[in-house]
Amino acid sequence: MTDKPRLTTSAGAPVPSNNTSKSAGERGPLLLTDYQLLEKLAHQNRERIPERAVHAKGWGLKGKFSVTHDISQYSCAKIFSQIGKTTEVLSRWSTVAGESGAADTERDVRGFSLKFYTEEGNWDMVGNNTPVFFVRDAFKFPDFIRTQKRHPRTNLRSPEAMFDFWAAQPECVHQVTILMSDRGIPVNPMFMNGYGSHTFSLWNKKGERHWVKFHFKTQQGHKHYTNAEAEALTGKTREAYQEDLYNAIEEGNFPKWTMYIQVMPELDAEKQPFNPFDITKIWPHGDFPLIEVGELEMNENPENYFQMVENAAYSPSNVVPGIGYSPDKMLQARVFSYADAHRYRLGTHYEALPANAAKAANVQHYHKDGAMRFFTNDFGNADAYYEPNQHNGPVADASVEEPPLRIDGDAARYEQAESDADYVQPRALYEMFDAEQKQRLYDNYAAAMGPCSASVKERWYAVLEKVHPDYAQGVRQANEKLASDTNAVPVTGDTPVR
Ligand code: NDP
Repeated sequence: MTDKPRLTTSAGAPVPSNNTSKSAGERGPLLLTDYQLLEKLAHQNRERIPERAVHAKGWGLKGKFSVTHDISQYSCAKIFSQIGKTTEVLSRWSTVAGESGAADTERDVRGFSLKFYTEEGNWDMVGNNTPVFFVRDAFKFPDFIRTQKRHPRTNLRSPEAMFDFWAAQPECVHQVTILMSDRGIPVNPMFMNGYGSHTFSLWNKKGERHWVKFHFKTQQGHKHYTNAEAEALTGKTREAYQEDLYNAIEEGNFPKWTMYIQVMPELDAEKQPFNPFDITKIWPHGDFPLIEVGELEMNENPENYFQMVENAAYSPSNVVPGIGYSPDKMLQARVFSYADAHRYRLGTHYEALPANAAKAANVQHYHKDGAMRFFTNDFGNADAYYEPNQHNGPVADASVEEPPLRIDGDAARYEQAESDADYVQPRALYEMFDAEQKQRLYDNYAAAMGPCSASVKERWYAVLEKVHPDYAQGVRQANEKLASDTNAVPVTGDTPVR
């Protein structure tokens, strides 16, 4: 007996040894009844869960959100009800394509997810560090992701597949321009913005709906790596983001973001020259100015990475009264697919895990049994296990119903024909870049496209041509320069295998 805490089995019984198996003589064999050995080996076999099919590599922090400005004229959500009000938050940032062991400093879009533990349940803001996305119809989402993952035969990433797909979906060019720009490799999540990307809605006490875009602007300023800097860093550490974030918090340097919204009255959606529910488009700041809402501060390392970050289950389906969805087709599909991914990855009762359990709200539902039902949820009366019941079980509250959504149109498949509108906003972005930024954009393309076939390259130049002839010309020249340099090797880490 020592004065240290006593080791037990997972069933709580004291354990005599944690080092030595029980065997029939010093040379063995082992005894099948050495249950603690079996338990130890069995647990090791079950320590991994399926990694996320997308956004597998991630980093998370705990923190708080504080309201600094009153937006109650737009939303009755309790989280925004009072200036100075604070709400606990769990963040998770991620790369999209890499597996859970991938290097942090790859050129990729970053996930930017926030779980707000509000008093009326959890609100998940499941965004990216870009205000737009590659495709606007969810039917294309699984194919798009497949092009970012490994080729079935070579088991390598395939630039040929990426650019083949993008060239066939010109609406991608806005997001691809951001990806290939300086912002394609943030120094770490502290130096990047977060965007809800989709159009969401806010509704107020009077039942008025506004369409809304969420923005979280970094207070640390934007900092990014060039390809060469990222390559050098990746050679030293694959975990640069985890190291930076963990150390910043331990040193008391808490990153902050300012939250803004852009707002559009419900009926104004029809008056816009672009589809405000198309996730490949932004809302111009000039027409829809940023309205300040509050401040996000991340200030605590989670006590256990697996429990709080790997188990964190973000889903745009998690909204609270005063915040709602929009007709955005990608959002509508994500409302289903994200929650469903967590049911598969974590299990039926994933919302009861510590990372996901509502903190300030009472969780009272009639979903009952299933794997890992480790909550009671019987409302103090075991007879109230169905609804309606005569036993004072919880009942729905019609006062939190969102205002009715006006829907117009015939249910049909609407082919999204290529449109000049798809090139206007990428053009505005391209024209913002100075000469050096443009050259880095071209060079980043050349590094990414080097292994692509000539026909795929030509098809992509044709897309860029429609954004701006100089853009197409610059990327073409950068590709030709790289190809003519006999010593050239692709610097993306991708292999020349197509
Ligand atoms: P503004 O001049 O008001 O805004 C330009 C925006 O571009 C700023 O938000 C800036 O972010 C952002 N930006 C700068 N460099 C990059 C980059 N390499 N990648 C992504 N974003 C960048 O103009 P508009 O609102 O009229 O938008 C013009 C274009 O700017 C859009 O077509 C779009 O491509 C891009 N953009 C627009 C956003 C929006 O919500 N309106 C958001 C982000 C980009 P910051 O202020 O943080 O430096």
